[in-house]
Amino acid sequence: MIESVDEAQYVWSHKAKIALFLSAMRHFAADLISQGYRLSYLKENQLPIVEVLSAYISEHSFTHLICVEPGEVRLRDALISLSQSLKIHLELRPDTHFYCTTQEFKEWAGDKKELRLEYFYRYMRKKHQILMQADGEPEGGQWNFDDQNRKPYSKKGPGLINGPLTFVPDDITQDVINYVLKKYPDHPGRLDKFAWPVTRTDALKALDYFVEHRLELFGSYQDAMWTNTPFGWHSTISCALNLKLISPQEVIQKTLDAWKLRGGSISSVEGFIRQILGWREFVRGVYYLDMPKMAQDNYFDHQRKLPAWYWSANTKMECMKDAINQTLEYGYAHHIQRLMITGNFALLAEILPQEVCAWYLAVYVDAIEWVELPNTAGMALFANGGRFTSKPYVASGAYVKRMSNYCQNCSYQSDVRYGENACPMTNLYWNFLINHQDEFGKNPRTKLMVANLKRIPVEEQKLISMHAKKILNDLDSI
Ligand SMILES: Cc1cc2nc3c(=O)[nH]c(=O)nc-3n(C[C@H](O)[C@H](O)[C@H](O)COP(=O)(O)OP(=O)(O)OC[C@H]3O[C@@H](n4cnc5c(N)ncnc54)[C@H](O)[C@@H]3O)c2cc1C
Ligand code: SF4
Repeated sequence: MIESVDEAQYVWSHKAKIALFLSAMRHFAADLISQGYRLSYLKENQLPIVEVLSAYISEHSFTHLICVEPGEVRLRDALISLSQSLKIHLELRPDTHFYCTTQEFKEWAGDKKELRLEYFYRYMRKKHQILMQADGEPEGGQWNFDDQNRKPYSKKGPGLINGPLTFVPDDITQDVINYVLKKYPDHPGRLDKFAWPVTRTDALKALDYFVEHRLELFGSYQDAMWTNTPFGWHSTISCALNLKLISPQEVIQKTLDAWKLRGGSISSVEGFIRQILGWREFVRGVYYLDMPKMAQDNYFDHQRKLPAWYWSANTKMECMKDAINQTLEYGYAHHIQRLMITGNFALLAEILPQEVCAWYLAVYVDAIEWVELPNTAGMALFANGGRFTSKPYVASGAYVKRMSNYCQNCSYQSDVRYGENACPMTNLYWNFLINHQDEFGKNPRTKLMVANLKRIPVEEQKLISMHAKKILNDLDSI
């Protein structure tokens, strides 16, 4: 096992992400050694992984390199080059921490031009007989229960949320935290609230706790946002899954077992399973299918720089401030904050997709390119022109107002489209529609947005565009 400084620096990684990866590695190494495995653990290397590996292979005159296929194409390609230059045999084994192999996904995708989650998800449900009735119909008679999910919190707020299980850093984690603070003092984020599970035992406890105490309300409030409510009813298990401390198979089995035993709302259970069996497997498949193009795509040809406050939360926009603040505090924001707050704004503000993707890859503890890139470039930014989404996810301040309390305390006004107090989300949303009305008018999923735009008098549309120009030219100051 190799710790490489390069891995923490190729994007400007959050301190919690570096600490989480290192601590999980060191715990795993200690566990292997205690079980009697022979393990070389190469600590705190300054060179890239592949260079350290290359020297190690040469030193020991190895002829074979066997490993699980890496979660980033960059590393996979580097290993292939390494094996060629050293003339050794490379065996990349399929990753068993997924239901669907990259080959199976490729076969499912075939020569489809547009890939849709819904069809893949149904295929996976049938194939693995998950939430299926004996008669071949989906459990509960429906494939999804979105109409019962995705509510905002009550106007009074979320009430008492039974938060996720947290873990006090042990000696190994504390050592890592001290190392990260010393080695990467300028990197974004904080470590004083580090409480992630770093071992399989703790990850299983976190999962059990979620299934027992939090799953029931997951569905209802999965899209809801509220100030200082970083986790809502979400599972917070993505980092444990991505670090392979737990597998998607056991997450789904535990969810189904608990549901069979206790009953409860099928909408929450199905909504949760769809994220794991559907989205998680789907985006991974698309990533391996579409790389390296996915990393270069820029459908709208957006070129602006990421505002500096993405790294500091120093903005007057309450929605962005809250989502970014919690990101810096924990390395976590939930899906709707990532998609409809920071992602939506980056799209409306015409930011270069590659800058946005580097930010997401740096700041989230669960960020590995196979899952980060398709979500950011594909889903949030529509940078691939709709390869797997039927429309860009754009929304104005009205959506934020409906789904959160952010607008109540904001210096901007969510329903004002231009002028001094205009909400930047709202202004840039209408500006985006004005600029893309021809294309959006032809798409059945966005036609209605353009119909709404047409109700705004042309003179007002001009004022919206003028105000947008002002905002876009000085994004750092909003
Ligand atoms: C712009 C953007 C960037 C993202 N980057 C990442 C990333 O780097 N790493 C990452 O794991 N997820 C990413 N996601 C997906 C999702 O936001 C996170 O998986 C989720 O917020 C993690 O929190 P949770 O464990 O509480 O998830 P929950 O809401 O409790 O969902 C349960 C699990 O389902 C899976 N899941 C849910 N949605 C997705 C999705 N869209 N794609 C893949 N898996 C999903 C995750 O494993 C998650 O743990 C991103 C989403 C967006 C919109
Ligand atoms: S008014 Fe606009 S900027 Fe302020 S919180 Fe609402 S959506 Fe965000």
